[in-house]
Amino acid sequence: MTRTRFAPSPTGYMHIGNLRSALFAYLIAKHDGGEFILRLEDTDQDRYDDKAEALIYELLKIFSLSYDEGPNKKGEYGPYIQSERLNIYTKYAEKLVENGDAYYCFCNEETLNHERMKAKEEGKTYLYPGTCRKLSSEEVQKKLAAKEKYVIRQKIPKEGSTSYHDLVFGDITIQNKDLEDQILIKSDGYPTYNFANVVDDALMQITHVTRGCEYVSSTPKYLLLYDALQFPRPEFIHLPLVLKKDGTKMSKRNKDENVLDLLNNGFLPEAIINYLALLGWSPKKNQEFFTLNELVEQFDVRKIHTSPSCYDVKKLEWFNHHYIMKLNDEKYLAFIYPFLNKAYDLKEKSEEWIRELLLSYKNYLSFGSEIALVTHIFFEEEVTLENDCIEFLKSDKSIKNTLSIFKDEIAKIQNWQKENIEKAIKNTEAKAQVKGKLLYMPIRIVTSGVMHGIDLVDTIYLLGKEKVYRRLRGI
Ligand code: GLU
Repeated sequence: MTRTRFAPSPTGYMHIGNLRSALFAYLIAKHDGGEFILRLEDTDQDRYDDKAEALIYELLKIFSLSYDEGPNKKGEYGPYIQSERLNIYTKYAEKLVENGDAYYCFCNEETLNHERMKAKEEGKTYLYPGTCRKLSSEEVQKKLAAKEKYVIRQKIPKEGSTSYHDLVFGDITIQNKDLEDQILIKSDGYPTYNFANVVDDALMQITHVTRGCEYVSSTPKYLLLYDALQFPRPEFIHLPLVLKKDGTKMSKRNKDENVLDLLNNGFLPEAIINYLALLGWSPKKNQEFFTLNELVEQFDVRKIHTSPSCYDVKKLEWFNHHYIMKLNDEKYLAFIYPFLNKAYDLKEKSEEWIRELLLSYKNYLSFGSEIALVTHIFFEEEVTLENDCIEFLKSDKSIKNTLSIFKDEIAKIQNWQKENIEKAIKNTEAKAQVKGKLLYMPIRIVTSGVMHGIDLVDTIYLLGKEKVYRRLRGI
């Protein structure tokens, strides 16, 4: 049975890269009919944030990445929150010490940090020199009895190398002499990620460890722990980096890639999932749109890329645009209305007008909150023309005449209906003897103040006769 896990640290807001890790872990398990587990890695108590924790549960629900076992779900291998498993880590760390695979270290943290900084400044790599490896068990007992502060470190063999086969990155070998005697248990009694991930993945029977490729070169250290604890080695699937468009790394502190912000701005979960699946993975067939179920069916680990992918919000907008168009009208209206309502006072507007306005934009939008950006023309009394509009109006001498004719045609309309507006445009075309851009663009610019938008007749209809006439008269 394939078992994968998503193991977020509740330290900040989930970004696109984190969600992509969750998605891939989910797809790998579900493609094999296996189980997907959520584990909360909250051992960094200084950075713990309860809002971030709550958000992890909420977002997994919104994105339909439902887990079979996890913090608020029963399972055989719980608890699924690391801070509730401290005694387990201590037990395994002590076992390692007993077997000579780990040791107590009483070195002063500040001194070591200082040495590490110095090495960094000199451009050298720093590895803990193993000072406390040499302590006799009497010395250790004495220091423990004197309540000296300690950490537990892994005793890495000085010779040889450690290798494994990553299902994405292939064969990886690291010389043991390049590995540090890393800390397993910190002085506050909490395990490091480096230790907890091994103990948990093994005890939770994770068969495929999926995580970001920044862990590729640490994995040999973890494998030495698996071996020392006689845990069977799992498969490893390291995922390619997701970079920002400028090629830099994502951070949980940056707003642009924040998943919650995307949702709040009206990106649909289905569109985000679809886009993210293709960020570092290629389907066999040339297909672009996938439901989550289709992804489960078609996901193939062998098609995960090794090269980094760039998160491109424009591409995500393109997907989102398609998903918005695919919503049925009622779903679309329920989705989009709050964005309009938040931006404008709708008290004086009829329900019918609002519905018509929103539906006119259904095939136009890339994200929900864009509705507020593009509909300002209906809520402002006057239009302010940008330079490109002014330039266009000056670009041909027929324009003034066209607009004057159109103004008279508008004045004549008794019944404000789309057919009559269409007729007014046709009559203007015939009388002014202009067509195409020279006919439509001046009308659009003067009535709505912009050069691009939804259908011109719809725009004029929604603006209303009074506003349209007033704007034409102002010319
Ligand atoms: N808690 C780790 C992180 O958020 C998880 C890494 C892993 O999946 O092993 O980076």
